[in-house]
Amino acid sequence: MRIDLHTHSRASDGTDTPAELVRAAAASGLDVVALTDHDTADGWAEAQAEADRVGIELVPGMEISTNHRGRGVHLLAYYVDPTHPPLVAELERILHGRAARVPTMIARLNALGIAITEDDVRRAAAGAVASGRPHVADALVTKGVVPDRTAAFDRYLGWGKPAHVDRYAAPLEAAVRAVAGAGGVSVVAHPWGRGGYGRPEEATLAALKEVGLTGIEVDHQDHDAADRDELRAIARNLDLVVTGSSDYHGYGKQDHDLGCNTTAPAELERLTSARATGTSGARRSE
Ligand SMILES: [Zn+2]
Ligand SMILES: [Zn+2]
Repeated sequence: MRIDLHTHSRASDGTDTPAELVRAAAASGLDVVALTDHDTADGWAEAQAEADRVGIELVPGMEISTNHRGRGVHLLAYYVDPTHPPLVAELERILHGRAARVPTMIARLNALGIAITEDDVRRAAAGAVASGRPHVADALVTKGVVPDRTAAFDRYLGWGKPAHVDRYAAPLEAAVRAVAGAGGVSVVAHPWGRGGYGRPEEATLAALKEVGLTGIEVDHQDHDAADRDELRAIARNLDLVVTGSSDYHGYGKQDHDLGCNTTAPAELERLTSARATGTSGARRSE
C-alpha cells in the first residue's frame, strides 16, 4: 500500500490538472494520493471523478498558508468541509492577500528593469484559483529572465529578495482550530523545511496539539536524515501522527516525484480515525 499525502495541481501552483495528477499518481503505483493545493478545494471534484475512474483512493486536502510569530508555516488540512463558513472566510482572506501582492511584485520587478506585466502572470496562472508568487516566477521563466522557478525565488521573489512582498497568512493556532471546526484533521507540512520558516520546536508543536493538531509531515524532501530522526522522536513524544509525502508540483518543482516519500498505512489510519472521532481539543470546546 503506497500513500502520498501532499501534492499540488494547477488549482494552485502545480503544473498538472487535477485529473492528470491523479492519473500520474496511479501510473506511479500509488494506492492513495491526497490533493493538497494551496488554500483551496477547487481541484477536488475533478480529482475525485478521475480517482473513481482509475481506481485509486483520493484524500481531499489543502495546504493552508499560516503565520506563527512572524514566520510562514504551511498547514496541511485533510477531510475538511470546504463550505464551513469560518474556514471559507479564512481561505478567502488568504487568497485575496496572495492575489493582491502580484501588482506590487510586478512593480518592483519593473523597477529592476524587468519587463513583465500582469497579463504575463495571468497567462502563467491559467486554471489556478488565484494568481500568486509561483505564477510570477513561471512568467519570469517564460520571459527567459531566469532558467527555472527556483532561480526566480532565489534571485527575486524569495524572502529578503528585491521583489519580495509580504502578504496575509492565517494565524497558525486559529487555522488549526478552523480545520478541526470544519471536521478535518491538520498536519504541519515540512516543519523544518526551506524558505525561512524557522524550525518549530517541540514546545510549539505540543501547544498546537492542545488546540487540535493531529500530525507532522516528517518524510519530506526538505528534511535530511538527521531532521527526520529528530522529528520522528518529537512525534513519538507528543503522540502525533507521522506522515510522508512528495509535495509534487509536476514540473514546477524538481526532485519531488510522486511517491518519493510515503506515509505508512497505520499512520493514515490514525489520521482518519482522529477525524472520525473528532478527538481534537478544539472540536470539543466548540
Ligand atoms: Zn508547503
Ligand atoms: Zn506543498
